[in-house]
Amino acid sequence: MATSTTKPAFKNICVYCGSSPGTDDRYVAEATQLGGLIANADMGLIYGGGDRGLMGAVARGVLAGGGKVTGIIPTFLIKREQEHGADELAGADMIEVPDMHTRKRMMFDRADAFVALPGGIGTLEELVEILTWSQLGQHDKPMVLLNSGGFWTPYSELMDHMEGAGFLHSPHRARPLMSDTVEGIIPALQAA
Ligand code: AMP
Repeated sequence: MATSTTKPAFKNICVYCGSSPGTDDRYVAEATQLGGLIANADMGLIYGGGDRGLMGAVARGVLAGGGKVTGIIPTFLIKREQEHGADELAGADMIEVPDMHTRKRMMFDRADAFVALPGGIGTLEELVEILTWSQLGQHDKPMVLLNSGGFWTPYSELMDHMEGAGFLHSPHRARPLMSDTVEGIIPALQAA
């Protein structure tokens, strides 16, 4: 793990992302790369504890870089993973919680900053919740979306639409920072 002279501004980064790999190979590659960069920056990963899709890729990327991974996973998802014969993510610290609400709360509490990679409605729900709490003034933790090949551009367009229709209370808070590159994510968080 890096012992760089740059002291990390954040201890722990929470990454929200798909439990699927997606159809473009770049998604898994970028998730793995982000994991390596988190480890290199001496930050810990907080994530949902899954071992499949982009979730597994980012966690493996951190572990391969010698970093610390904390997965927070509800009991019913552990059972589902076991039924699917998922491998253990050796080296990760897994915390079992009773339900999704406990998990989301714990992920929020432990994280200093958030990243969303491509994903499905689970990822969307998680990132929107963080932005909603920010809009309500409940926290100031930054969020960056990795706009892989324009993946999150429709989210920006939806925000434009809502703002135009007069429904966004604090437009800048509903709009996360966007990065077109994996390398841009941590600098964007640190500059926020
Ligand atoms: P999605 O973007 O719909 O794939 O959902 C991603 C989110 O769904 C994750 O952050 C988790 O909250 C949850 N999730 C779905 N499947 C799993 C799984 N097998 N293990 C852990 N979390 C999962």
